[in-house]
Amino acid sequence: MSFTLAIVGRPNVGKSTLFNRLVGKRLALVDDQPGVTRDLREGEARLGDLRFTVIDTAGLEEATDESLQGRMRKLTERAVDMADICLFLIDARAGVTPTDEVLADILRKRARHVILAANKSEGSAADAGVYEAYGLGLGEPVRLSAEHGEGLNDLYSQLMPVS
Ligand code: GDP
Ligand code: MG
Repeated sequence: MSFTLAIVGRPNVGKSTLFNRLVGKRLALVDDQPGVTRDLREGEARLGDLRFTVIDTAGLEEATDESLQGRMRKLTERAVDMADICLFLIDARAGVTPTDEVLADILRKRARHVILAANKSEGSAADAGVYEAYGLGLGEPVRLSAEHGEGLNDLYSQLMPVS
């Protein structure tokens, strides 16, 4: 059975890097798809023997009149509502920020299933941030490095039983 995974998190945590790693060149440009704007990128992902749709909450970096918090909340809510599973990324090198807390709250209230991942986890500089992530109350964080392709086995192990 196929499922939809939304990658959510504040700007710069590595969502698009992970999206690109999961989708590779199989990117479906969303402009052609009804109901999906350029703020949400959709692609067909592969991880081991899993095949699923992945959504990247993009477009947050563009400057608009609306506040980042407001846009991020709306976009995250839309992605959450489209998804069977949410992959919530934090930046392990930055630790847990107030914005992460806001998003964690949305996910706790709204998401069907959340997997927490501490990205940028390569090397020991990430250890403190990974530890902080436990405090979000969203379970044990998966240690990921989207850039280096590390932790994808652990991500698979968390996705497999709920897929
Ligand atoms: P997004 O705004 O959440 O989509 O984040 P991006 O995917 O654009 O990544 C933001 C920055 O973090 C870029 O400079 C990436 O190269 C970097 N980045 C992404 N993943 C990793 C990682 O696993 N480790 C490190 N050190 N940097 C990363
Ligand atoms: Mg991005």
